[in-house]
Amino acid sequence: STQAETFEFQAESRKLLQLMVHAIYSNKDTFLRELVSNASDALDKVRLESFRDKDLEVDTSDLHILIEADREHRTLTVRDNGIGMSRDEVQELIGTIAKSGTAELLQQLKDTKDGAAAQELIGQFGLGFYASFMVADRVTLLTRRAGEDTGTRWDSTGEGTYTLEGVDEAPQGTAVTLHLKAEDQEDSLLDYTDSTTITTIVKRYSDFISWPIRMEVERTDSEGETTRQIETINSMKALWARPKEEVAEEEYREFYKHISHDWNDPLETIHLRAEGTFEYQALLFIPSMAPFDLFTRDAKRGVQLYVKRVFIMDDCEALLPEYLRFVKGVVDAQDLSLNVSREILQQDRQIQMMRRRLVKKVLSTVKELMTEDPDRYAKFWDQFGQAVKEGLLGDVDNRDQILEISSFESTHDPESRTTLRQYIERMKDGQDSIYYITGSSRSKVENSPHIEAFRDKGLEVLLLTDPVDEMWVESVPEFDGKPFQSIAKGQVDLDEQDDSNSERAEQEQEFAEVLSWMSTKLADDVKEVRLSSRLSTSPACVVGDTNDMGPTLEKMYRAMGH
Ligand code: ADP
Ligand code: MG
Repeated sequence: STQAETFEFQAESRKLLQLMVHAIYSNKDTFLRELVSNASDALDKVRLESFRDKDLEVDTSDLHILIEADREHRTLTVRDNGIGMSRDEVQELIGTIAKSGTAELLQQLKDTKDGAAAQELIGQFGLGFYASFMVADRVTLLTRRAGEDTGTRWDSTGEGTYTLEGVDEAPQGTAVTLHLKAEDQEDSLLDYTDSTTITTIVKRYSDFISWPIRMEVERTDSEGETTRQIETINSMKALWARPKEEVAEEEYREFYKHISHDWNDPLETIHLRAEGTFEYQALLFIPSMAPFDLFTRDAKRGVQLYVKRVFIMDDCEALLPEYLRFVKGVVDAQDLSLNVSREILQQDRQIQMMRRRLVKKVLSTVKELMTEDPDRYAKFWDQFGQAVKEGLLGDVDNRDQILEISSFESTHDPESRTTLRQYIERMKDGQDSIYYITGSSRSKVENSPHIEAFRDKGLEVLLLTDPVDEMWVESVPEFDGKPFQSIAKGQVDLDEQDDSNSERAEQEQEFAEVLSWMSTKLADDVKEVRLSSRLSTSPACVVGDTNDMGPTLEKMYRAMGH
């Protein structure tokens, strides 16, 4: 083996590690879930890679996870014979936190004074491998990538540096050894070297893992003789393949955490199975919080594809449209080839049918939430509303349903949003359009002079303040037969309802001179100057032509160089 070299953790990793080392996180047991979860992913990957690359030298005959406890030395090792990591991968994956959003997380933590809130934030981020440092004061990782000759040993106390060393004789896969903190022995109820403790934790968090998790356990037979033997301690039952009635809430939650890498509970669980010619099972989750990278260009999709219980791919974009990218879960199809590629999936008719059904199911689940639990629906909309509204641009088939589950700020109530249905119920006699105004914030549009006359006449106006609003509202003609009408564009005729036409004609004569003078003066800047009944206290306002772009859209196009 080679000389050990010392490296520094990347700055962000160092900060996160420090949080872990000094963590007061109430549920330290979850470190094991993270390690088992990584081992399980590594086994999925090696099976897939050996399947795709017949030349890869790898033994996949007994893929498993082994947990070894050493009471005397107070260590706990989680070992897998999965894909393993090359030296570069170790450095890249373990030495840095490449996860997008780390910087934001740290910033938010800095601004958070409340310890519980800080823990929640960390929880949302999910620390993965680093969670080991909640219970260990030193962690070693020995790994060899499938197909490579040399292994790598990584070693760290979590205090700023780690060492890397080449190792000649390393089994394929990865072994993570935790040197357990002494304090946990004294003041905690749990001893992580005790096989009963470990078994309990594995059953709680990782029972559904589809690979055997083995451990040496003590058994006392009928004669009172104690023997030690290695047993599989998880049931390995794929959760999605079990009947809904038989799955406990807790099991769903833990499964969600495994596949989503989120430490929070999901907001909603959707479990469905399709039988018949094209058989599949789906277990989908709506998270309770949006990930930090929901709006970055390369945000991950959340659905994994399995074929007959075999993991095929993460991040399967063929299964759900982009606007539902926050949905996490698993789809297991019975009739696909294990060889499917992303390209094939995009064109597969059965996949398209499946996708249509899944989209409808997600949307109808939100609809149910809306009627049955408005508070939780509001939470959902806070987190994911902006993404969902992107669907109004592309998903014409589901447009009505998306409008149905959308909610918007409005002049009706400063505290809560309104649905379009509720808006329509409040529409005045003779009002045939849904009035809206777009802008960058509620306070900006609320103080806009365009709104005054509507407010005076008691007409409700939707305040559309998300960037995406201006895009969809241009392309969606109506909801339930009522057109959307911008109050900042063209002639919004409020007069019909009360002002008399003769009065209007009189005023036009009276102001004719002023108007023509203003038209000449402003000729370079505006198309037309006209009298308006839409203002009550402001003397004048600028309006767009009916077919013009809204101001936000105009800005976006300008920024893009149009
Ligand atoms: P996450 O699992 O969310 O990606 P982790 O911190 O748990 O984050 O792990 C970081 C990365 O390290 C993993 O994505 C994986 O590439 C690699 N890794 C961790 N554990 C193992 C393992 N047992 N075998 C192979 N790779 C691993
Ligand atoms: Mg992980």
